[in-house]
Amino acid sequence: MKITDITATWLRYNIPPAKQHVSDFGRLQTFDMTLVRVETDEGLTGFGEAKGAVGSAAICSSIVSCINEELRPLLVGEDPRNITKLWERMYNGSRSHYAIEHGRSFPELGRRGVRISALSGVDMALWDLLGKSLNVPVYQLLGGKCRETIPAYASGGWADASGIGEQLKQTIAAFGERGHFNAVKMRIGSMDGTVENSIARVRAAREALGPDVKLMADAHGTWNEREARRFCRGVAGCNLAWFEEPVNPDSVTAMAEVRAATDIPISAGESLFTRFEFRELIESRAADILQPDPGIAGGITEVVRIAALASAHQLTLAPHLWGSALLFSAGLQIAAATPNVVTLEYSMCFNPFLREFSPDQFTIKNSEVGIPEKPGLGVAVNEDFVRQYSVKVGP
Ligand SMILES: [Mg+2]
Repeated sequence: MKITDITATWLRYNIPPAKQHVSDFGRLQTFDMTLVRVETDEGLTGFGEAKGAVGSAAICSSIVSCINEELRPLLVGEDPRNITKLWERMYNGSRSHYAIEHGRSFPELGRRGVRISALSGVDMALWDLLGKSLNVPVYQLLGGKCRETIPAYASGGWADASGIGEQLKQTIAAFGERGHFNAVKMRIGSMDGTVENSIARVRAAREALGPDVKLMADAHGTWNEREARRFCRGVAGCNLAWFEEPVNPDSVTAMAEVRAATDIPISAGESLFTRFEFRELIESRAADILQPDPGIAGGITEVVRIAALASAHQLTLAPHLWGSALLFSAGLQIAAATPNVVTLEYSMCFNPFLREFSPDQFTIKNSEVGIPEKPGLGVAVNEDFVRQYSVKVGP
């Protein structure tokens, strides 16, 4: 089998005003994704998602160009089933033969950033393709199932102190007869103006939810170390399951100091690239729970490596999955086969790429996600949807 073409497409969905939310990223008016398509001479096509931003809205033109103009020429004509070799090719470029010969990396300039997100989407599509070519789900290729269902948590929570309790109760009840989520994440941090406002919102949330629902809080890396420590003291009685990105992800030492000052578990990693950045996070003892995004960190290949690195340090993973059904399935497939991937993020904002993009829907019941049994990622792509929301890139 040979790769005949690789194409990336920017999809943009304008979020209706009534469904928009406001965070430290501003008012989120669009949901964007980069769809990656790997085509072969045997008629099989693999799909993946490359993330142009951690959140909903993104300008995806540079990532589309990177895939179409930089990665595509490196891979066309290659056998798509040699995923590890192609990963090295995308990461090391013209020196990839040295990487394989010497057994160490010879990266190009794009060791971080757009190039790695672009690589992630192609890698995801290659795994989808491999599964389809062998007629098995991706989890089977990763060693098979170690669990039958995977816990998921509902991710949302932007309302102020007077509304957050009701908002989170609605969020966890969104699936009605399929049962409530038993875990929910809310946003905090600089968007609240003061640390005290964030503390008040978390206390209101805990009061409304009662003691049995897991509650997490995500500061999106917006505080400094002092603010983060003050927050930890203020919510000491709220039994947070984790405090996510207390400080800027580049302030690894400060994050480690926050972690040392509290017994609330610290989570981080949604905007980190490759095992090398996760190695720093782990060695600095800055986080308890790692959150690589398969559409950012280096694809399914690299998240599996990060999970292995984490397991050697007795750390768990809760992958960041704020994106399409392809991204969610990538996280799901990894979690199915990887014991220390313990929970999945299920975005509860207005997300048409998770809930409308594909005729294949995930089964979620009582906060547990079923594992799809279809080949590859198990996510068929609705081509009418793709045509309707495609954005033209370039001249
Ligand atoms: Mg986050």
